[in-house]
Amino acid sequence: MSIEPMVRAEQVHKSYGQVEVLKGIDLEVQPGQVFCLVGPSGSGKSTFLRCINHLEKINAGRLYVDGELVGYQEKNGKLHELPDRVVAQKRRDIGMVFQRFNLFPHMTALENITEAPTQVKKVPKAQAREQAMELLTKVGLADKAGNYPSQLSGGQQQRVAIARALAMEPKLMLFDEPTSALDPELVGDVLDVMRGLAEDGMTMIVVTHEMGFAREVGDSLVFMDGGVVVESGHPREVLTNPQHERTQAFLSKVL
Ligand code: ADP
Ligand code: MG
Repeated sequence: MSIEPMVRAEQVHKSYGQVEVLKGIDLEVQPGQVFCLVGPSGSGKSTFLRCINHLEKINAGRLYVDGELVGYQEKNGKLHELPDRVVAQKRRDIGMVFQRFNLFPHMTALENITEAPTQVKKVPKAQAREQAMELLTKVGLADKAGNYPSQLSGGQQQRVAIARALAMEPKLMLFDEPTSALDPELVGDVLDVMRGLAEDGMTMIVVTHEMGFAREVGDSLVFMDGGVVVESGHPREVLTNPQHERTQAFLSKVL
């Protein structure tokens, strides 16, 4: 018996107007994996995450999350776009953390975390608060529950953003350069939270330039450039012994 991959991309193409940004991506992310996506700026990493998360529609190929087509349903061999209502439902199962911690500025850390569960999932307030406190404890910020984003450091805000995504109990977490906007001394705490999530068995796709994290925590690594997968394998393998010139050139800059 084979397990269904959490994400499966088959010849995924995505264009903006005349510009083709993803030129046939093939990859699989297995449940429980930490899947690292690396590559130079403009290579299509964010676009690919946005496709997984229903924020963009692919133009060709097939993209599956947990065995289900993203954005479309197949009927009699033809693809039909999913209604917005169904897309919204599916998006709830995927957590996303961006480079910029986009917390709601007028809400406390706790309120940021309880907002979606109470509004979208109709979780009772008391239960949502209890769960939020557990999540804040998990990310090491139980004492900051009442703080507004402006009263938190960038690293603390990013940890609240992770807790907020977890509050929806996603089956997949997407991280788009979650530490790139942080002062260097704040990066470690965020990576530690991500490491903990990995140990809990969360399936994660992580776009990052933190090669130490990729090497220690990653199960799989894909190097993308120009909208294609140039090379993939176990992070230690790819990072110590890159086969392609483009991978070597990129790694020599970030390592
Ligand atoms: P990465 O995350 O690897 O830096 P992106 O996925 O952000 O790459 O971008 C890949 C390419 O797609 C870039 O050339 C970028 O300018 C282009 N692009 C991204 N988003 C859009 C958009 N909404 N409209 C037009 N072009 C876009
Ligand atoms: Mg990007």
